[in-house]
Amino acid sequence: MGRLIVLVLLLIVAVWLIRRALRASAARDATKGAPAGELVRCAHCGVHLPRAEARSSGDALYCSDEHARLGPRQG
Ligand SMILES: [Zn+2]
Repeated sequence: MGRLIVLVLLLIVAVWLIRRALRASAARDATKGAPAGELVRCAHCGVHLPRAEARSSGDALYCSDEHARLGPRQG
């Protein structure tokens, strides 16, 4: 009888841990998705692209290495 109670308690703890892990990973995905989806503007041509794909040069962000080399468009 004592072993059965221990078994049930272990099962409850296991289910609780699994549910907690699933919730934690879902929350992590939600927070991770926001910065990656953030759009930034190329300082040279003005195209919008995800921050993760942008090149930075100085204070500005660019869509490509070429535009990073050319720098911000004047005017
Ligand atoms: Zn560009």
